[in-house]
Amino acid sequence: MKTTDRRNFLAQSGAVLTAATLGSACSSESSEKKVQAPYINFNDTFRWKMVTTWPPNFPILGEGCNLFAQWVNEMSGGRMEITVYGGGELVPALEVFDAVSSGAVEVGHGAGYYWAGKIPAAQFFATVPFGMNAQQMNAWLVGGGGTELWQETYHDYNLIPYPGGNTGMQMGGWFNKEIRSIEDIQGLKMRIPGIGGKVFNQAGGTSVLVAGGEIYTNLERGVIDATEWIGPFHDYQMGFHQVAQYYYYPGWHEPGTALELSVNKEKYEALPTDLQVIIAAAAERLNHWSLCRSEAMNSEYAIKLAEEEGVEFRRFPDDVLATFRKYSQEVVADLTSQDSLAKRANEAYAKFQKQMAQYTPYNEQIYHSDFGTIA
Ligand code: CA
Repeated sequence: MKTTDRRNFLAQSGAVLTAATLGSACSSESSEKKVQAPYINFNDTFRWKMVTTWPPNFPILGEGCNLFAQWVNEMSGGRMEITVYGGGELVPALEVFDAVSSGAVEVGHGAGYYWAGKIPAAQFFATVPFGMNAQQMNAWLVGGGGTELWQETYHDYNLIPYPGGNTGMQMGGWFNKEIRSIEDIQGLKMRIPGIGGKVFNQAGGTSVLVAGGEIYTNLERGVIDATEWIGPFHDYQMGFHQVAQYYYYPGWHEPGTALELSVNKEKYEALPTDLQVIIAAAAERLNHWSLCRSEAMNSEYAIKLAEEEGVEFRRFPDDVLATFRKYSQEVVADLTSQDSLAKRANEAYAKFQKQMAQYTPYNEQIYHSDFGTIA
């Protein structure tokens, strides 16, 4: 080291020391005293409970929660143990939000639209008909300010939400009647929840709620004429191809459903910094893993359904989709006119969707239409 270099180096070191001393000036006048790191007692262990809206170990969605707990445990060197409960095991599936909000449990997993009755705005952080697909949702939530708005929306409920996975674009559903025009929706009974269900009703159909375990029998016996569920992988497990003739696409009502991992704010803030970062990192890993796993399994099972089970894939006619879209805009307008948080969430969502829509023709769209189907 040359003399001038050494002099510069020493000068810089002095500057660092001065800054460090200034930082701890209140505690001591001694320049020898070390700067204190945030207090972490590595003997402290934390035992948390995680409640979910999914049946225990439900493929991908429930499995993802088990993985989240495992990753947190491994990353924390065993200092943090999270026990995962399926819907109904500790609290009913649709009470996950309240259980985490009240602090009865520390963490929950579900989807924002399940709490629509309590917080209409929450739906925009899950999915809305003709809204953004999974990639666009992640771009908004992770990279475009969506999660910050989501956390603000849940602030008064003592909850910190994180993107916790995505189902990918869902399928339109299983029908026993061919849909040739919007008239064919008239009088049709379909299991389709949420905003999609409201749109279906506007189009002359009847949306019904049927518990997961009863859909197959209802479809088989003609109690319902159609049902949507998730995508090819999960639908195959339900066996719908055995009792319905047509498999319609696209899943206009759920174009990319984002899942939600929520943490009780006080419990989170009581954690040492490293465990807070571990929770956030595991949530991010879950968000990534869940969509990747869904895409991998859905593509495999779509082929299986078509080639091994002879399922007929049908596209909804353009005029049917155009009508669904018109009604969707009306339902969303009605929803946001009555609630200021929903209005704000919708404005941010719609602005980002428009931004993506203007950009997509120059990349994803041309690639998918011209080269995406090349094998
Ligand atoms: Ca669905």
